[in-house]
Amino acid sequence: MRIAVPREIRDGEKRVALVPDVINKLTRLGYEVVIEAGAGVHSQATDDLYTAAGATVKSGNVISDADVVLSVTSLTPAQMGSLKKGAVTISFLSPVTGTDSIDAAASAGVTAFSLELVPRISRAQSMDALTSQALCAGYRAALVGAELSPRFFPMLMTAAGTVTPAQVLVLGAGVAGLQAIATARRLGGVVSAYDVRPSSADEVKSMGATFINLELEALEGAGGYAREMTEERAAKQRELLTPYIAKSHLVITTAAVPGRTAPRLMTAKMVDAMEAGTIIVDLAAETGGNVEGSKPGEIVVTAKGVQIWGGKDVPSQLPFHASSLYSRNVVNLLTLMTTPSKDGAPVSLNIDFTDEIIDKSATTHGGAKHTPGASEKGGAK
Ligand code: NAD
Repeated sequence: MRIAVPREIRDGEKRVALVPDVINKLTRLGYEVVIEAGAGVHSQATDDLYTAAGATVKSGNVISDADVVLSVTSLTPAQMGSLKKGAVTISFLSPVTGTDSIDAAASAGVTAFSLELVPRISRAQSMDALTSQALCAGYRAALVGAELSPRFFPMLMTAAGTVTPAQVLVLGAGVAGLQAIATARRLGGVVSAYDVRPSSADEVKSMGATFINLELEALEGAGGYAREMTEERAAKQRELLTPYIAKSHLVITTAAVPGRTAPRLMTAKMVDAMEAGTIIVDLAAETGGNVEGSKPGEIVVTAKGVQIWGGKDVPSQLPFHASSLYSRNVVNLLTLMTTPSKDGAPVSLNIDFTDEIIDKSATTHGGAKHTPGASEKGGAK
C-alpha cells in the first residue's frame, strides 16, 4: 500500500501534507511512503530528511499509482481523474466551492475525504485540521498587527516617560481569535474581544482579555459554530461595536460562519472614523472580508492612514509548524481507517461508514458522491 505526497501546486501554498517526523508512524503501520522531490522545501523538510525518515523521494508524478494521496489543498480535477480506482485522498477539499474536484473524484472511483467536514467531536480533535490551521492564523494575525503598528504593545516605564499599552480588539473569538488574543497578551497589549457566541466569553476571560457584552441575541449554531446574522442584527452589532473600535490601536477580525461569505463587521465609514496609525488585520479577507475594503494578500492604506492587512494563505506564512500540525491531523485520520499489517498480512484500508468521523468527512465513494448517514448504521459510533 503506497501513500503519495505531491508538491502543492496552488500559488502561495507553502505547506506540505506530511513532514519527515511523522513518516515512521505510517511505515510502522506497513505503508510505503513516496514524496515528490521538493514537496517540503518551504517547511524545512528537505528530500534528505524524508529519505532518512524512511520515505522514498521521487521526481515527477507520484500520485497515479498511489493507494492514498495526502495533500493540503485539493487535488485538481485532472489530478483526481489520474488516480487509481479505489484510491483514497485526504485534504482540504473546500466542499462548498471545490465541487469540480469532488465531481472528478466521484467519476474516478476515488474516496475523497474533506478535512473541513471532520465532525467536531472530542474523538476527532486530533484530526481537526481546521483548528490546527486556525491556530497558526491567529498567532500570525497578532504578530502582523504588532509589526505594522507604530506603537509599543506593552506598558513601559522609562526614564523618558511612560509608554501606555496598545489596545487590541479581537472580533470573533473562535480558535483563531483566541490564539490572536493569547499572542497579543504575550506581547503586552490590553485585549478585549467580542463574539456572537456567548459561550466564548469564559474562554476570552481565561486568556486574560475582557469580553464585550453587547446584549444582543446569541447566534450559537450547531457543532460549536456561529449562525449567520440578519442585516438588521449586523447593523446593530456594528453600531454597538463602534466605540470599542474607535479606541483600539489594533483590530483583528476572524469572524466566520461555515459555508457562508464572511460577516461584515466593519464598514468603510467605521474604518474612516479610526485614528491614523491604527491597524486592522482581517483574517476573513479571502472569504469576503469582515472589513469593507480589505483585499486578500494586500495592505490597503486609507486616506487617513489606517492600514488594513488582508489575510491570504495565512497558515502558509508559518509553514514549518502549520505543516507539522497538519501532518499529525492527517496521519490520525488515516490511522483511523487503517488495519495495520500483522502476522504476515499486509496493511489495508478499512473505510467503515458506521464510524461517524469517516462517514461525515467522506465526500465520494464507489464512483458516486457520498451522503453521510446513508449506511444502515451510519453515525452510530
Ligand atoms: P469559525 O472559524 O467558523 O468562526 C470564527 C469565530 O467567528 C467563531 O467563534 C464565531 O462564533 C465567530 N463569529 C461568527 N459570526 C460572527 C459575527 N457576526 N460577529 C462576531 N463573531 C462572529 O469557528 P472556529 O474558530 O473554527 O470554531 C468556533 C468554536 O467551535 C470554537 O471556539 C470552539 O468552541 C468550537 N470548536 C470545537 C472543537 C471540538 O469540539 N473538537 C474544535 C474546534 C472548535
